[in-house]
Amino acid sequence: MADIHIRKEGRAGRITLTRPQALNALSYDMCIALERAIDQWRSDSDVDLVLIDAEGPKAFCAGGDIAEMYRTGTEGNYEFGRKFWRDEYRMNAKLAEYPKPVVSFLQGFTMGGGVGVGCHGGYRIVGDTSQIAMPECGIGLIPDVGGTYLLSRAPGRLGEYIGLTASRMGPGDAIYAGFADFYAPEALWDDIKATLIETGDANTIRNQTQLPPDSPLAAAQTDIDALFAGESLGDIRNMLNTSDGEVATKALKALNRNSPLSMALTTEMLHRLRGPSLTIRKALELEYRVSHRVMEHGDFLEGIRAAIIDKDKTPKWQFADGDVPAIAVSKMLMPLGKEALDFREDGMKIGFIGLGNMGAPMAANLAKEGHEVVGFDVAGATAEGVSNAASAAAAAEGSDVVITMLPNGAILRSVANDVIPAMKPGAVLLDCSTVDVQSARDVAAQAAEAGLGALDAPVSGGIGGAAGGTLTFMVGGSDAAFATAKPLFDIMGQKAVHCGESGNGQAAKICNNMILGVTMIGTCEAFALADKLGLSREAMFDVVSTSSGYSWSMNAYCPSPGVGPTSPADNDYNPGFAAELMLKDLRLSQQAAEAADADTPMGQAATALYTEFVENEDGQGRDFSAMLPRFEKRGRN
Ligand code: NAD
Repeated sequence: MADIHIRKEGRAGRITLTRPQALNALSYDMCIALERAIDQWRSDSDVDLVLIDAEGPKAFCAGGDIAEMYRTGTEGNYEFGRKFWRDEYRMNAKLAEYPKPVVSFLQGFTMGGGVGVGCHGGYRIVGDTSQIAMPECGIGLIPDVGGTYLLSRAPGRLGEYIGLTASRMGPGDAIYAGFADFYAPEALWDDIKATLIETGDANTIRNQTQLPPDSPLAAAQTDIDALFAGESLGDIRNMLNTSDGEVATKALKALNRNSPLSMALTTEMLHRLRGPSLTIRKALELEYRVSHRVMEHGDFLEGIRAAIIDKDKTPKWQFADGDVPAIAVSKMLMPLGKEALDFREDGMKIGFIGLGNMGAPMAANLAKEGHEVVGFDVAGATAEGVSNAASAAAAAEGSDVVITMLPNGAILRSVANDVIPAMKPGAVLLDCSTVDVQSARDVAAQAAEAGLGALDAPVSGGIGGAAGGTLTFMVGGSDAAFATAKPLFDIMGQKAVHCGESGNGQAAKICNNMILGVTMIGTCEAFALADKLGLSREAMFDVVSTSSGYSWSMNAYCPSPGVGPTSPADNDYNPGFAAELMLKDLRLSQQAAEAADADTPMGQAATALYTEFVENEDGQGRDFSAMLPRFEKRGRN
């Protein structure tokens, strides 16, 4: 593509904006090309870091390419702009959350959309010509592309100052305000890039950069904090009107130029976002509420007309007297419901092998969210919205992610032998079955050798969780593969915990389930003892569930019918979680304990009891909490 040059150089994935004649303004196609590149490099073991720079001395990127948005918006078609913003914001979030270092070189103007590309990585380099700004209030928008994230984290009330006045930051100010990290004279940039490309080590930057120049904003911080502390735009304006001094005078002049609605919104947004729970996604989601509405109800089209189309620089803003009613602000910031920014992509291609009790609803949930899912099951099982392939290899071919949900490690190994050679380079093999740690590690190594990412991600939550999309995933594998699979975990589950390297997901799962097996047996035998001591089940539950004997087995899954929350005990011990599956997990835990030379006497005892229960005592097919009726019937010997 002419406007952006994407390639691998040495250890770097390199992106150069090559549109200097338009100050490297970011078009929709550039946005998508950039996103595709970082998606591919996420699990590419040849790429250690991403290097983003731009051609020409005048600008890294002076903003988003808004001409097409204006054309379509003035025709009453708001969908083009909304899609541009949605896709751009998703790319911004990916850059901010990228698992590998992102290094950017920000000469000249970096504004608006350019900030979204250049200012979310962890290694942002500025030089003497750098001028960074969020000028959106001047065109009737709000600081977007994650701008409110950066502004709300700037020291004191600097965020309000920079956002409302749209003032430009030189290198010292950009570092002080948190829009950049390192300063180096631009004459040194080629050397810095060459080192990055050769070593793939972003920390080399630290030896090649220098102390930044002074920050005029730092010197003005006390004044800025006093002038911009107001609750609303009205308060800030009052403060500026009644203050003397250079900072106040300059700021007031800027405020008189910009869209009152945009400035009132920006003030409110920064107040809402500032705080410990702030994330880039939260900021982008809030920004999108405004962008979604801004062509229809905001000042955006008028702002573009005055600044870029007619160039008369006399926009007719709404609320031109500067008095923006709170209701106008609230309306623009109302949640968007179904239209909300959800960071999901148009769809991945997913192969899904094993469409049993768990796999079928998981695959159906992915298909429902717009992913193209191709399934395969030896028993011919199918799932809603999922097309069927003739073999596991056929389902894997061309897929971005291949998910397996199979009975055990031996079957996983055999399926892996079929699918790994069929998968495209850089794709991720995601095993959600519960298998032994060694099988998980061996399959991951086999996948890595074939240039694939691999994750072991066993689940808890059972069939109900699979159907409802509320599973918990315990995940082992690389950061890069985890990041690729994260949007899928978000659909199939409510939580995904990254537990470390390959096999650690399975390790977490079997440790958890060993505790579960042990506590369920303890809870059941205590109920049986309480019966014999004449204690009622209700009294037992009331005491234990609020005392030191409490556990998930007692409090959430009480094995006694009619007591505590509804559980399989209330349904004649139909599973739920079948005793034979608990036995499978306990055996895996003991196999791992044996291999690791870990002493697990309680796990051993639980395994022996469940073996007896499943193999000799009619436990097969019953819920694992049916241990209680087993204990009820027995005496001491
Ligand atoms: P299941 O037996 O219902 O499903 C397994 C599916 O794999 C079956 O449909 C089977 O035909 C298919 N299969 C077997 N060999 C195959 C092959 N070579 N190629 C393609 N398909 C093949 O089991 P499930 O309950 O869905 O459990 C799947 C995994 O999830 C297991 O590892 C289990 O331990 C784990 N798990 C289950 C639960 C639960 O409550 N069911 C809870 C947590 C974890």
